[in-house]
Amino acid sequence: MLYTHSISLQQVIINYFYLCTMRLRSLQIKGFKSFANDTLLNFSENVIGVVGPNGSGKSNIVDAIRWVLGEQKSKELRLDAMSDVIFNGTKTKKEAPTATVSLTFDNTKNILPTEYQTVTISRTLYRTGESEYRLNNVICRLKDINSLFLDTGIGSNSYAIIALGMVDDILDDKENARRRMFEQAAGISKYKVRKRNT
Ligand code: ATP
Repeated sequence: MLYTHSISLQQVIINYFYLCTMRLRSLQIKGFKSFANDTLLNFSENVIGVVGPNGSGKSNIVDAIRWVLGEQKSKELRLDAMSDVIFNGTKTKKEAPTATVSLTFDNTKNILPTEYQTVTISRTLYRTGESEYRLNNVICRLKDINSLFLDTGIGSNSYAIIALGMVDDILDDKENARRRMFEQAAGISKYKVRKRNT
């Protein structure tokens, strides 16, 4: 069953500097953390945050966005092991066999270097440990997703998505957080990545 969650705003601020230029259309989550059911979040307008009671799953939404963008560190997703992203069941609901997250962008302004007007990236993790990335439903490598988003400022560790803890990191300038944020905003970080890869 597919149903739509209505969400409100707090804790997470999605930096719409980027989302204004390339709109995030929807987020689909299935079997990821507390999202046991197939859940579709539509972002028909600029979203600047998510609010809700403690433990209702606000941070899990941000975790899902980070994860589909390729986050590899379980700690960053508040987990001991990456396999813990898969819904682990409740008294009344069986555990999920897989976790899948899909993120859909409107690319009508051709900000992403592809001819597609709509771009959907997906990541699936199976209980067996196998994982899979897809670009518009075609299996691809994480590297392909990274290079597609390289010039956009959107990535698993970018400041396009700011979770609550990151605000503290920026204020405390933890591990040069402020410099990294300004470099991403100025578009310098992509040159650093390219230099590292050559
Ligand atoms: P807070 O306001 O405390 O930060 P929150 O609204 O951000 O809470 P989250 O931290 O996103 O909530 O969600 C926490 C919930 O997700 C907890 O109830 C936790 O048990 C549940 N959860 C996390 N991983 C899984 C999993 N693999 N399977 C099922 N539930 C999970």
